[in-house]
Amino acid sequence: MTATPIARLGIHGARVIVHRTSDTKQWSAWFLDDPQETAAAPNAADAVWQLLQSCGIDLGAAHILPDRDKCSSEKGHFEMVVLPLKIPCPDCKGSGTYVGLSVIEECRRCRGTKTISRTSL
Ligand SMILES: [Zn+2]
Repeated sequence: MTATPIARLGIHGARVIVHRTSDTKQWSAWFLDDPQETAAAPNAADAVWQLLQSCGIDLGAAHILPDRDKCSSEKGHFEMVVLPLKIPCPDCKGSGTYVGLSVIEECRRCRGTKTISRTSL
């Protein structure tokens, strides 16, 4: 089973590092847990967007939370957590169905959509 791009973020989100390389003055972005895949752009925001797009993550499905303690434009270093706006429904564990003793019906919490929005937790 391959994970959907947004599932790659995990329920608690994935940390993205954005760093300005001193020699090229380009910004590079990568996931802390997977430094193999990087994206580069002339500015930090574009680098993050390119990284997410290269992973197939829809920007409309993610929330980017800057980690202000780790952000410094002086040092050319930013860190942020990219959170999925929707997470697998905890009631049906993302199956979309409720399995009772004698019935199998649509999960009432997510109404069969398998995900719920993070804010409804
Ligand atoms: Zn459900």
